[in-house]
Amino acid sequence: MDKNLSLYKNVWVFAEQRQGKITPVVIELLGEGRKLADEIGVELCAILLGKDVKGMAEEVISYGAEKVYVADSELLENFTTDAYTKVITDAINEIKPEIMLLGATHIGRDLAPRISSRVNTGLTADCTKLEIDPEDKKIKQTRPAFGGNIMATIICPNNRPQMSTVRPGVMDKAVKDVTRKGEIISLNVRLTVADIRTKVMEVVKSKKEMISLTDANIIISGGLGLGKAEGFEMLSKLADKLGGVVGASRAAVDAGWIDHSHQVGQTGTTVKPNLYIACGISGAIQHLAGMQSSDLIIAINKNSTAPIFDVADCGIVGDIYDVIPMLTEELNNVED
Ligand code: FAD
Repeated sequence: MDKNLSLYKNVWVFAEQRQGKITPVVIELLGEGRKLADEIGVELCAILLGKDVKGMAEEVISYGAEKVYVADSELLENFTTDAYTKVITDAINEIKPEIMLLGATHIGRDLAPRISSRVNTGLTADCTKLEIDPEDKKIKQTRPAFGGNIMATIICPNNRPQMSTVRPGVMDKAVKDVTRKGEIISLNVRLTVADIRTKVMEVVKSKKEMISLTDANIIISGGLGLGKAEGFEMLSKLADKLGGVVGASRAAVDAGWIDHSHQVGQTGTTVKPNLYIACGISGAIQHLAGMQSSDLIIAINKNSTAPIFDVADCGIVGDIYDVIPMLTEELNNVED
């Protein structure tokens, strides 16, 4: 049976939270969602699930949501795919948003396809750009395709909501304003223990979560040009000095020199820091896809024709083992 598309209204953001904290991508989704909602002329709303989460709803409002639909239940204390899918699916069927945005986080990537198939709509995963078609007010969702060599723009003309997961670190963050007013609407949670096939016994924070590339203002990344795992210790010293974190190319990760959580690029994290220093990284398209919108890019490479120099604001042709110690020493002198 065809859906009556005109019944679907407003832009929704999934306000993902973990242990009582809104995840950073939600603030980016609210920033982007605001632009989309204004262009269509509709409201920006959020859906927030968990236990005792009403306080977080206020925070979501301060980032621009006009309405926050809250599902508060003991059974939603920890994320489970079954519970979250059911509650969000019920809310979509009942309230009918026209656009639904989720972060392309582990949770978002798990949840979005299930919800989209339950509500029988399309999903564009891992979007890097969203825009409203001025003609018909539908959303155009752009994402890298075929190994990042082309960008595909996808539409969802016949079903609702139009759903996208959005890569963390790509969209501009919404600006917080605590004077903003919004409506908090409690959802009627129809959930029983029998609906949830898994049981969370314990939540263990992995060491990996310690580094957050998406939130970093300064990233010093190393590639295969480092030649050995120890090269990352040198980068780490420089990162500490600058108050930054260490990133890596996939080749360095594949070499086993550093954990995948540091990987920048198409199959790693997309970053947008104030300063990105690429050390011994050639600048393959899949790496550039994850860092080229950084504010200032400095590349250090001994090959003057390396493609990384095409996106760099400042290039240093030289051996990293000469350049990095010089830089670190220079910074030490500045402090003295
Ligand atoms: P190389 O390309 O080998 O470059 C090493 C560079 O170091 C060279 O430019 C060399 O001149 C320089 N160099 C060597 N020694 C020194 C020295 N002593 N001093 C200074 N410079 C030196 N890659 C990613 O990074 N992230 C991704 O998310 C990612 N996803 C991918 C997804 C797919 C589907 C595919 C097919 C590939 C993906 N890749 C990704 C891999 C990507 O194509 C490249 O292979 C990878 O980025 C290369 O890493 P690199 O620049 O460190 O190594």
